[in-house]
Amino acid sequence: MRFDIMTLFPDMVSMVLAESIIGRAQRAGHIEVHCHQIRDFSENKHHNVDDTPYGGGVGMVMAAPPIYGCYRSITEQIDPGARRRVIYLSPRGRLFTQDVARELCGYDELILLCGHYEGVDERIIEEIVDEEISIGDYVLTGGELPACILVDAVSRMLDGVLASPECYEGESIASGLLEYPQYTRPPVFLGREVPPILLSGHHENIDKWRAEQSLLLTEARRPDLYAAYKETHKHTK
Ligand code: SAM
Repeated sequence: MRFDIMTLFPDMVSMVLAESIIGRAQRAGHIEVHCHQIRDFSENKHHNVDDTPYGGGVGMVMAAPPIYGCYRSITEQIDPGARRRVIYLSPRGRLFTQDVARELCGYDELILLCGHYEGVDERIIEEIVDEEISIGDYVLTGGELPACILVDAVSRMLDGVLASPECYEGESIASGLLEYPQYTRPPVFLGREVPPILLSGHHENIDKWRAEQSLLLTEARRPDLYAAYKETHKHTK
C-alpha cells in the first residue's frame, strides 16, 4: 500500500514512521510512505500557507490553494486505476477504530491531509476529501500524530508487515476482547511469580486460562466490549 501524507511538518511524520516495524516494512517494500510539504505549493512571495478566518475569530486557517497544488502533484504521480481514498485527519471525523483500520486495508493508496492551527479551508475538504477521520475525542495541535497512528494501525495488518495474521488477530480489540496477561523470563520477578499454569506445558489448559483471563479483564475494564462479545457469542458455549 502507498501512503501520501500532505503536511506542513513532513519530518515529524517521516521520522516516526522510519523507526521499528513500520520502518522495516518500508525498507522491505511492503508499504510506501511519501511525505509532501504543502508549503512547497504556496504561490505567494513569502510561501505563506495560512490566513486569518473570514468572519473573524482566533487563529489561522490553512488556505486551500497550496493544499490543492500538493494534492494535484500527488495524483499526477500515482496510478489512476488505484483504489484510493483521501482522508482529512480531523476531530470532527468518524472515530478511528480497529474496524476502520481493517476497512482501509482494502485500498491501494491512502492520501492523508494533516491540518494545523484552526484547521483547513472547508472548500478543500469539499473538493478533494472522501472522509474525515478522528483518532479520539480530544484536540491535538496538528494532524501529523493522527496520520502516524493511522498508517501504523493499517500497515500492521498488511501482508508481510508482521510475521503472520495471528500476530494481530488475537490481540486486544481485534479479537473483540482485551488480551490476557503476558509473561516472559525470569519466572520470579521481585517476588512475583508467573502463574504456574503457564509453566505447566499443558496447552489446552493454558488456552483455557488465557480465554478466562481475557473475559475477566474485558468485563472489568470494558463492559461495552464485554456486552457486545456476549451478545455475539450467546449461542456458543
Ligand atoms: N479548529 C478545529 C476544530 O475545532 O475542529 C481543530 C483544529 S486542531 C487544533 C488542528 C489540526 O489537528 C486539525 O486540523 C486536525 O488535522 C488535527 N487534529 C486535532 N485533533 C485531532 C483528532 N482528534 N483526530 C484527528 N486529527 C486531529
